[in-house]
Amino acid sequence: MPEGDVVWYTARQLHEALAGRVLTRSDFRVPRYATVSLTGQQVTEAAARGKHLLIRTSGGLSIHTHLKMDGFWRVRPATTRLGESYKVRLLLANEDWQAAGYLLGITEVLPTPEEQRVTGHLGPDLLGPDWDADEAVRRLSQRLERPIGEALLDQKNLAGVGTVYAAEMLFLRGINPWRPVGEVQDLHALVELGQRLLDFNKMRLGHVTTGDTRRGQENWAYGRAGRPCRRCGTPIRRGEQGPPGQERLRFWCPNCQR
Ligand SMILES: [Zn+2]
Repeated sequence: MPEGDVVWYTARQLHEALAGRVLTRSDFRVPRYATVSLTGQQVTEAAARGKHLLIRTSGGLSIHTHLKMDGFWRVRPATTRLGESYKVRLLLANEDWQAAGYLLGITEVLPTPEEQRVTGHLGPDLLGPDWDADEAVRRLSQRLERPIGEALLDQKNLAGVGTVYAAEMLFLRGINPWRPVGEVQDLHALVELGQRLLDFNKMRLGHVTTGDTRRGQENWAYGRAGRPCRRCGTPIRRGEQGPPGQERLRFWCPNCQR
């Protein structure tokens, strides 16, 4: 599942291609909005909020999309001929650019003043202009018995962390993902580290936490089950964690993370 930095980067690409330009085409390929047309409206902004993406128009509408598991966007010059793809959920174009959203998990249109309905539940956005570490810590601290690995992924606590950054943040702070939130020494340092990691990676695609961008060298724990810990050599473990039906993968070093 894409992490907050990918959504931030995608929003930036969409903003550069669409903002300030009038839509010459809008093609919603989801049944509920199949008859909606935003052609003739100007896009004012494309913005990320956690893992949610909002494209706002001069007509007071917001297109709300979410990449969920497999979604992605591609921006191409307007002159490029797009092959027909059943994976496209939304196509937006102006005189210069066309943007296609593939396999989007959510595609909906709502009045801009009602955006709170779809993003109001989110905690502080790690890459948002209003990032607030204290508020993230306050929200995390509301359920002290909850495993920290699970709490970090709850977007109501802080918005933008996915399984990669959760694994890497906990490795770098030496915290076992199963440790209860109430027993984590310094929640503030943990969330600030997450903010720095996402910020470091937001201008490109990739989640580098080791400082080494070479393929296979990017991460400390994530995706490295059975391979030796880069610090101590102990095999990295893999497990599942989360509420029933929403289990997500965890990677950790049983020696470095307590
Ligand atoms: Zn280790």
